[in-house]
Amino acid sequence: MPVEIIQIKNLSVKYGEIEALSDVSFDIISGDYVGIVGPNGSGKSTLIKSILGLIPFEGKIIFQGETLSDFILKNNIGYLPQKMSFIDQRFPATAMEIVVSGLYCRKKFPKRVTKNDYKTAGEIMETLGISGLADRSIGKLSGGQQQRILLARALIHSPRLLILDEPTVALDPQSRDTFASIIKKLNSEHGVTILLVSHDSGSMGKYASKLLYLDRKVVFYGTFDNFCRSDEMTKYFGADQHIICHRH
Ligand code: ADP
Ligand code: MG
Repeated sequence: MPVEIIQIKNLSVKYGEIEALSDVSFDIISGDYVGIVGPNGSGKSTLIKSILGLIPFEGKIIFQGETLSDFILKNNIGYLPQKMSFIDQRFPATAMEIVVSGLYCRKKFPKRVTKNDYKTAGEIMETLGISGLADRSIGKLSGGQQQRILLARALIHSPRLLILDEPTVALDPQSRDTFASIIKKLNSEHGVTILLVSHDSGSMGKYASKLLYLDRKVVFYGTFDNFCRSDEMTKYFGADQHIICHRH
């Protein structure tokens, strides 16, 4: 039986006069890998921020029958935001310290890091293939390596839902592929539900189980195969345009 991890009902968001999202409704099923695509300014980041409760919105967002705060308290969401400005070379922390810091906000005073915390961090770094970076200074790592460290930090609570907003824009093609296959593996082998914003709908077809095409409203929501031949997309782009769909 499919279980909805998130239900979004009639979500609308305004920034002053600008209506960034208008009457958006869709469900995310547990275990899905949902790729959110759409042009610049189409409300993708706004959708993510609404789900995370970072901005006010109209409508309803329900997390398996719970409110966001209850769902977050159970460590259910990991988040990697858009535009991670890469870390200054002199930033005085090792990769391991950054990963462990993902546990701080949930700790009660005094916030002590335990041996067990380091063990958990070590395990997640192992899963992401970055154990070798543990003692390196974070500012001296490459963009792709830093992004994997930040992913490990987001995953240290073993969240059931991982939300990523254009996580690979600043990376070179090879780091992008490595990162993409890590996310795919988290989904297929560890059962983490993925919600990932990308402006590359072509490559999303390779990884995502569902595609949401957003342009202030939901233009299309369904499988990649249906996306390629959908009436909604043909109407959206115009009948003389072809959507190029290939699975690399
Ligand atoms: P996307 O992530 O798809 O590029 P965004 O969700 O960032 O789109 O933005 C959607 C629309 O809302 C855009 O027109 C953008 O300019 C506007 N917008 C986003 N954030 C703000 C803000 N904090 N204040 C005013 N307008 C905003
Ligand atoms: Mg955005």
